[in-house]
Amino acid sequence: LVKFSGVHKRFGSLQVIKDLNFKVPEGEVVSFIGLSGCGKSTTLRIIAGLEEVNKGTVERKFDNLGFIFQEPRLLPWKTVLDNICFVLKDRIPNKVERQEIALHYLNLMELTQFKDYYPAQLSGGMKSRVSVARALAIDPDIILMDEPFSDIDFPLRLVLIDSLKDILEKESKTVIYVTHDIRDALLLSDRIYVLTARPMQLKEELFISEEVRDINNPKFSELERY
Ligand code: ATP
Ligand code: MG
Repeated sequence: LVKFSGVHKRFGSLQVIKDLNFKVPEGEVVSFIGLSGCGKSTTLRIIAGLEEVNKGTVERKFDNLGFIFQEPRLLPWKTVLDNICFVLKDRIPNKVERQEIALHYLNLMELTQFKDYYPAQLSGGMKSRVSVARALAIDPDIILMDEPFSDIDFPLRLVLIDSLKDILEKESKTVIYVTHDIRDALLLSDRIYVLTARPMQLKEELFISEEVRDINNPKFSELERY
């Protein structure tokens, strides 16, 4: 659905991305991992069309996308539940049905008990989880996730990633997941792109087997090496 060929990106004299090449096939969960400041969010913004490139081509073969921004963007005057129902208005005319869908995805993100909270009453990690629930509920062709779980402790992160992995597989969604935690990437992805820092370039492309992604597999403890 997405293909970068020889992409370069500069901000003034700062070269952020240099000759970046990758592809995101339909139905795959693809992770980008790289150090802070290397250009991961910039890459997502380019995919979303929010940023022009200086050189190279970006092919996009999708109609609509969901974007989970690194800084969650929720409507502050609406409750958690209404933040999700609001974006479903055009597609789902029936109010009860909208609420059912919203609750389903809130439950998946372990947020059922916070459905009537306002964004100001939530922690950063909770706001990100609402953004994830909202993006899943909208059901776009592709979802860009910019470190959605980076503020969440590892035990809860495992639970959330497990639920997310389930739903992504069930609904065969295409996702680009940006993180600097190799564990998240290994658990979720079909493919991982490892990026070098400054200027960002593709360093390695990894394909992940089911065996490695199963957290009950003893091999998972090997991840601690990272
Ligand atoms: P993190 O893991 O901390 O979120 P990142 O990999 O997402 O980092 P980016 O936000 O893409 O990194 O930023 C990459 C580089 O580009 C940084 O040096 C940043 O200062 C620079 N940059 C990003 N956006 C702009 C902008 N609009 N104007 C100028 N420089 C920018
Ligand atoms: Mg970023």
